[in-house]
Amino acid sequence: MRRSHGTAAESTAPLPAPELTEAECRRCGTLIAGLDGRYACGVCGWVNDHSEGHRRLPRADEDPDLPRRGRRPPKLPPGPPPDAL
Ligand SMILES: [Zn+2]
Repeated sequence: MRRSHGTAAESTAPLPAPELTEAECRRCGTLIAGLDGRYACGVCGWVNDHSEGHRRLPRADEDPDLPRRGRRPPKLPPGPPPDAL
């Protein structure tokens, strides 16, 4: 870690990139890759608990892909009915 801005707990600073980790699936033994100690097996569907991760999960409002509340998809402009042809 090169950057350090003190404690990241409850801060609004962007989260650092997750770390790639590997482990064996506890159900079928397949070597699976995960992020920050969280795994999901693509073979048998096993997932470990999120609390086993190396750090807290980002909150929903920290997800840049989350659509902002209050923003709705634009309404379609009024046009001819589909069977007007
Ligand atoms: Zn598995």
